[in-house]
Amino acid sequence: MRAEVFRAWITAAATVIGEQRDHLTQLDAAIGDADHGINLDRGFTAVVGAIESAAPVTPGAVLTLTGTTLISKVGGASGPLYGTAFRRAGRALGDAADVDLPGLAVALEDALAGVQQLGAAREGDKTMVDALAPATAAFSKAIAEGAQTADALAALVEAAQAGAAATISMQALKGRASYLGPRSVGHEDPGAASTALILGALRDAARAGQ
Ligand code: ADP
Ligand code: MG
Repeated sequence: MRAEVFRAWITAAATVIGEQRDHLTQLDAAIGDADHGINLDRGFTAVVGAIESAAPVTPGAVLTLTGTTLISKVGGASGPLYGTAFRRAGRALGDAADVDLPGLAVALEDALAGVQQLGAAREGDKTMVDALAPATAAFSKAIAEGAQTADALAALVEAAQAGAAATISMQALKGRASYLGPRSVGHEDPGAASTALILGALRDAARAGQ
């Protein structure tokens, strides 16, 4: 996968975040402060502008610029967390002009590690980690079993969606939602939901780029 696919991914992510902005904000209204969709829409709109003006030429540079822009434009917990995820993924890709599936898997694993180092959330704490961790594991497993790009990315997205859905029955132990204690049960975590959307955009961009 070359830089065009990564630019298409981020553009598609910005589009779906814009479309789902109100939905994400409603999820955050139930267990947070009703700003998640607003935060991410502002951030990804800025990212699209930054990519258009800087025109990064490698996949790693696309993701690093995405992360840096999210950190500078998004207030709230999700900005630094997503920003770190994209910056770590970008660093893992290095200067390569073309990224293969194992390289992308390492980048996603580094992104997850960055989120967990910064936010200290584990699986089951009802955060974006509950979408990103199973997605990353499913992706790496599919690749190890010989899956091609489309099937590996389908496995990534299915695991992210299942992981996000599984947060409904969890009690939040990290982030603003944890202040609600047991009352956080029964609602999908907004960051897990947005992670599934962002990874879905990756699958769609890779499919369109083939
Ligand atoms: P804020 O909570 O500051 O208003 P957002 O509403 O934009 O920020 O993002 C909330 C999301 O951030 C949560 O749904 C959760 O997925 C994620 N989040 C919060 N704290 C953490 C953490 N410590 N580790 C991982 N993800 C977290
Ligand atoms: Mg919020």
